[in-house]
Parts: sequence; structure tokens; C-alpha cells
Amino acid sequence: MRKKIVAGNWKMNKTFEEGLKLASEVVNMVKDEVKSDAGIVLCPPFIELHAVSKLVEGSKVALGAQNCHSKASGAFTGEVSVEMLKSVGAGYVILGHSERREYFNESNQFLAEKVNISLQNGLTPIFCCGETLSQREKGIHLDFVKSQLTESLFHLSESDFLKVVIAYEPIWAIGTGVTATTAQAQEMHAIIRDHIKSKYGAKVADATTILYGGSCKPDNAKELFACPDVDGGLIGGASLKARDFVDIVK
Ligand code: PGA
Repeated sequence: MRKKIVAGNWKMNKTFEEGLKLASEVVNMVKDEVKSDAGIVLCPPFIELHAVSKLVEGSKVALGAQNCHSKASGAFTGEVSVEMLKSVGAGYVILGHSERREYFNESNQFLAEKVNISLQNGLTPIFCCGETLSQREKGIHLDFVKSQLTESLFHLSESDFLKVVIAYEPIWAIGTGVTATTAQAQEMHAIIRDHIKSKYGAKVADATTILYGGSCKPDNAKELFACPDVDGGLIGGASLKARDFVDIVK
């Protein structure tokens, strides 16, 4: 059985105090209300990671960062290394979010380097992929997403690939209130799994966790997560309210 995960991507939201409040609300609600062993991950901004790691200690909630640098250390002003992330208790790192691809020009090749250094340091990458609306309208979305996976992940050994979590996030659904239909989500998730199978075989494909992201909310999570190839979600807007996030987890 592959692992089910719900991860909250806070993006550039919440001051330090607001972030601590949100994290402790989530931890308390999860303790009382969540009985399953699904993975729950909070991905706050960098400055909150250390304090949130203290709050989630001993709980079911794990900690993730939203980004990392591709190099181990050195003269990269303003950047944060994976070793630093590890040192404050992060276990996951979101890589290749469409906002970073778009606003910070992150290429598939550059992301491959980030994937490598994350794995070398024992961090689990949550690797994002997904197409624009115009790519979908042109009918090239399936090939586009497959090429994102091929170029950033398919150099990995089987054992390293098994450590990666994939998040399919159609760009047209992120923060727009427009969610992919269950048919659209299932279609792409099945294509992704099939693509993994073509490279690594059925066992690895079956064991890979593939999350859906893009306007996932408490009222649509249940039907999305019921799709056979959807193993949970990467949640943006709805992760900023503890009640909504925990309802999605439940
Ligand atoms: P959203 O964002 O849930 O606000 O659409 C998802 C994401 O970007 O990870």
C-alpha cells in the first residue's frame, strides 16, 4: 500500500506568530480528530520552520520546506540549503512548484539538481508537475507533464525514485477556485503512474505516492482522493485555515 499524504503549502503567507498559531491549531485538531496513519505535512515559510518543528515534535504532523537551493553551501546570498533545512527538522521539501518555475525560471534540469541534493541529505522531495490551460487546450498536456518527470526524475536509481512524492498540480487550477474534475485528475494521475511504470516497472509505479493540488477544498477533497490513482493532496489556500486543512485530511 502506498502512503497517503496531505501537505499544506502556506506559500508566502503568515507572520511568525500567525504561523505558530496555525501550526498548533492543526497539531491539536489532528491529535483529537485524525485516527488514520495518513502522512500530514506542514510547509511554512523558511523563517517559521524551526519554531514549527518544535510544535509538531511527537505529533503525527511532519515538516516540509517550500524550496531549497541546488548547491550544498557557499556564496548564494539569500538562499537556504538542504543541510540547513535538515538542521531545523524538515523532512520534506516542495520542489518545482509552478510558481517557482514561472517566477524564478526554474527549469527541469535545475530541478533535477535540487532533487539530487535533497535525496542525498535524506529529505523527501514533493516534486510538482502540471500544465497550463493553453497546453491542455492544445492537447499537449499529457506529454508535457511526462517530460517534466522524465527530465527531472528519471535519472534516479529505483531506490531513490521510491523516495520521491509527486504532486500533479494543473496550473489553471492553482488558486483559481477551478478544480480539476475527478475524471481529469484521475486521467493525469494514471498517465503519470503509467509513465513511471514504463521506466521503473509496475512495482515502483504502484508504490509511488501521487498527490493532487489545485483548489482542493474540504468539499471536493473526498471525491478527488477517492480516485484510484490520487493518493492525497498538496493544499495551498485551504491550508491557511486549520479547520479546512484538517477537514481535508479527514
Ligand atoms: P491552491 O494551491 O490549493 O491554493 O490552489 C495549491 C498549490 O499551489 O500547491
